[in-house]
Amino acid sequence: MPELPEVETIRLQLDQKIKGLKITEVEVLNKKSFIGDFGEVRGVRVVGVRRRAKITIIELEGGVYLAIHLKLTGQLIYREKNQRLKTKDQKRGPYEVGELPNKFTRVIISFDNGGKLYFNDLRIFGWIKVIKDVREIGEDKLGPEANDEVSFSREYFKNILNKTKKPIKLVILDQEKLAGVGNIYANESLFDAGILPTRPSSSLSGEEIRKLRNSIIKILNDAIIHKGSSDNDEAYRQITGEKGTHQNYLLVYGKSGQRCPACGGSIKRIALGGRGTFYCENCQK
Ligand SMILES: [Zn+2]
Repeated sequence: MPELPEVETIRLQLDQKIKGLKITEVEVLNKKSFIGDFGEVRGVRVVGVRRRAKITIIELEGGVYLAIHLKLTGQLIYREKNQRLKTKDQKRGPYEVGELPNKFTRVIISFDNGGKLYFNDLRIFGWIKVIKDVREIGEDKLGPEANDEVSFSREYFKNILNKTKKPIKLVILDQEKLAGVGNIYANESLFDAGILPTRPSSSLSGEEIRKLRNSIIKILNDAIIHKGSSDNDEAYRQITGEKGTHQNYLLVYGKSGQRCPACGGSIKRIALGGRGTFYCENCQK
């Protein structure tokens, strides 16, 4: 599932492409994928593209927004008018984009420059919603942005960790505590900080809390620089249809049985809260 770095990559790229353009048409090919009245956004200009947690928010003139959640398999792909495909873009696996619309295209948004934004979603868990207030995305249930050094302060982190004995990995995955971290970056950050995913949160020392917060912020920012992770089973694509590149920099995620990049030991996998959890028992305490 796309996490903060993937959605931030889409936000940045989409903002560059559609800011200032007017929406001319919205075609809803699957009713489950679009919530609200698309008549409200037709003819309206894009002010900019924002993000909150894992949600992309297209801000339109007149206080209307299109909130987009990609869930497991959503993709947002932008094509210019008459854009030619490169041969390497041809469709191979289910998540390769190829010619558009393809059989997983659920919504098409057209702009006054002739460009089109395609919302593809193989499993149809994702959605686009017309909203009048950004708080409608569930703002009251979201913690601070996990890459925001100001709101995600060391003091804040210490406070939430001291209150619970739950495994540390489950706490940093909890969007009400910290917004934007999903399974990939939770595993990576805990490895980087040398902390076992199963450690009771309240057992972390002040120094460990400091390290983990720094690791979360650093790993997320590195992944944004690398335009997100598109591991083999991940649907995530940049708005060009290309994969991200951070999968080439992963340390432990998806690597059970492989060598630890720090000590050469074997990376273990357990299930924690139903999610694949990867760690090195030598390097993480
Ligand atoms: Zn190790």
